[in-house]
Amino acid sequence: MVKENYEEIEKRVCAACERAGRDRSEVTLIAVSKTKPLEALKEAYEAGAREFGENKVQELMDKIPELPEDIKWHMIGHLQRNKVKYLARYKNIEMIHSVDSYRLAEEINIHGKKSGRVFPILIEVNAAGEESKFGVAPEETLQLCEEISKLDAVSIKGLMTIAPFVADPQQNRPVFKRMKQLSVDIAAQNIDNVSMDILSMGMSNDFEVAIEEGATHVRVGTSIFGERNYNI
Ligand SMILES: *Cc1c(COP(=O)(O)O)cnc(C)c1O
Repeated sequence: MVKENYEEIEKRVCAACERAGRDRSEVTLIAVSKTKPLEALKEAYEAGAREFGENKVQELMDKIPELPEDIKWHMIGHLQRNKVKYLARYKNIEMIHSVDSYRLAEEINIHGKKSGRVFPILIEVNAAGEESKFGVAPEETLQLCEEISKLDAVSIKGLMTIAPFVADPQQNRPVFKRMKQLSVDIAAQNIDNVSMDILSMGMSNDFEVAIEEGATHVRVGTSIFGERNYNI
């Protein structure tokens, strides 16, 4: 089933790109595999998936050694500072999407320096101001970018958001537009060591609208792997 689902999502990504007048290569489809067994990830890999997203460091550590080395892994979940040292061991962590404080960036910077690399990160924005969500407020994002830009073993590549859960994906269009505008505004500041090339937004429910509004990375879990069961 995963293979068919993946192919179906791939088609829908293509169609959304076409509607938006964008090239398919402008959008990266991240298969969000959290809670799913290795077999499911292998099936997605066979269907062509090469970028996977996980939200827990422990799960990344369990899965990375078991799967092909050409997979690019995205850390998309809330990251505790004491877990950064584990994450830093892996060469194929493509990007950390969930940086929302200077202290976390500082910790990533320490481990970047230790391992002689620069970590690509995104700033997580709580675009709709939901109380239950992590992320920095939109109006504080520029300042956080300026502060983090001074750390040389992290490199800000753009913004990430988790849009509200809505019945009709069109309801999130203004949220995505606001994120796009925020990234354009920050890019215009030309801050050293900050680029706004990446906009990680859109999930199973609303990735097509996100692509139409400028997402460069969509994170799709349920529509590829099926519902998650957190009780096992
Ligand atoms: C789980 C998760 C997703 C995928 O959500 P689906 O609705 O299952 O597609 C995307 N982004 C983040 C940060 C997640 O934690």
